[in-house]
Amino acid sequence: MSKLVDSYRHKGLRKRLIEEVRSKGIRDEKVLSALEAVPRHYFMDSSFLEMAYQDKPFPIGSGQTISQPYTVACQTELLMVEKGMKVLEIGTGSGYQACVLEKMGARVFSIERHHSLYLRAKELLAKMNYKVRVFYGDGYKGLPAYAPFDRIIVTAAAPYLPDALLQQTKTGGIIVIPVGAGDTQVMKRITRIDEEDTREERFGYFRFVPLLGSKTR
Ligand code: SAH
Repeated sequence: MSKLVDSYRHKGLRKRLIEEVRSKGIRDEKVLSALEAVPRHYFMDSSFLEMAYQDKPFPIGSGQTISQPYTVACQTELLMVEKGMKVLEIGTGSGYQACVLEKMGARVFSIERHHSLYLRAKELLAKMNYKVRVFYGDGYKGLPAYAPFDRIIVTAAAPYLPDALLQQTKTGGIIVIPVGAGDTQVMKRITRIDEEDTREERFGYFRFVPLLGSKTR
């Protein structure tokens, strides 16, 4: 892994990106500050510097992508994270979204099913001194040993809301999940009102890589 350098040039590009994300409708200043604080180029190959600060998704290997910054901002805003909350992310990928959540003040747990991505993210986050805890496993099952969570964010397209995730959400807790098996997914925010009841809100269409079944190496 190359040395991590966050130059004035990177910071300048990032400021511009944040303004772009803001102009697309993200209003939560805490979310915008978190995005501004995390050097997105650390999560991509160093030869793609210009790409890191465009509002676009980008391949990170193993057929996966780092989400578009606007999408990261949007999901983070919908999640309504407060300082000290326990947050579970399904789909660590590059680790970028997890870092944005930690910058929001969350205690972050993240699951990745691709072993190579899991190892890479774990190494990078340790090097960046983030406390995010990364797990190699199947996100459909959640993380029962550390449940319940205040918030759960799914960063891959889910055909449905896995019941394990709902069960691992605190009463009053929130799940943000893109649901749909086709090309596009509806962004849903599900609030667990009590043991039996949930409230569902919808926030437009997005395009994610699919949430997959059993683990791969
Ligand atoms: N949040 C990531 C982007 C995620 S892309 C980032 O900030 O970079 C979706 C990720 O979900 C991929 O890395 C993919 O390998 C992972 N994934 C797919 N199915 C999964 C599952 N069942 N459990 C955990 N991770 C899964």
